[in-house]
Amino acid sequence: MAGAVYPGSFDPITNGHCDIIRRIQPILGEITLLVARSPNKTGLFSVEERIALAQEALKGLPGVKVAAHDGLTVDYLKQSGAKVIVRGLRAVSDFEYELVMANMNKKLAPAVETMLVFASPEYYYVSSNTVKEVAMHGGDVKDLVPPGVAKALAQKFQENARAKR
Ligand code: ADP
Repeated sequence: MAGAVYPGSFDPITNGHCDIIRRIQPILGEITLLVARSPNKTGLFSVEERIALAQEALKGLPGVKVAAHDGLTVDYLKQSGAKVIVRGLRAVSDFEYELVMANMNKKLAPAVETMLVFASPEYYYVSSNTVKEVAMHGGDVKDLVPPGVAKALAQKFQENARAKR
């Protein structure tokens, strides 16, 4: 099987992302979580930190790899021989963006298919952005992110608070 790629910012990885990987890997075989290096998006975590957090969260899951890429996702697929892009769908508001991306990727790489997977009901409202917002204000995110991410968020916001003092 050629395998699949799950691209995104993963700033940071959440339980919603992990749930998609766990559900899809047995169906699609090898799956690579691909952290996009985007020059116009600065994240809370560096790409290296995001990779380390994703690796820790997905440790021990068979057929799962973590990688980073700058440039077009379809170019990564061409290099790696993967044929499927996996994306998650939460609210209707995700739909329009995903539709545009899927069609653009189809134009750029006709042999690649995008598969959209519905978020599980318990993670429907979980996004990296909301998790960061909650953690920044000292809210409890332990049910929303892997333990290593909860720790890293707490550390990051402590560091930021210290730097401001
Ligand atoms: P991007 O910045 O490219 O949207 P994200 O890291 O936010 O990347 O998300 C990567 C993919 O995972 C996207 O397709 C997004 O819709 C999906 N996703 C994000 N959160 C969840 C969740 N809670 N459940 C299912 N899919 C999700």
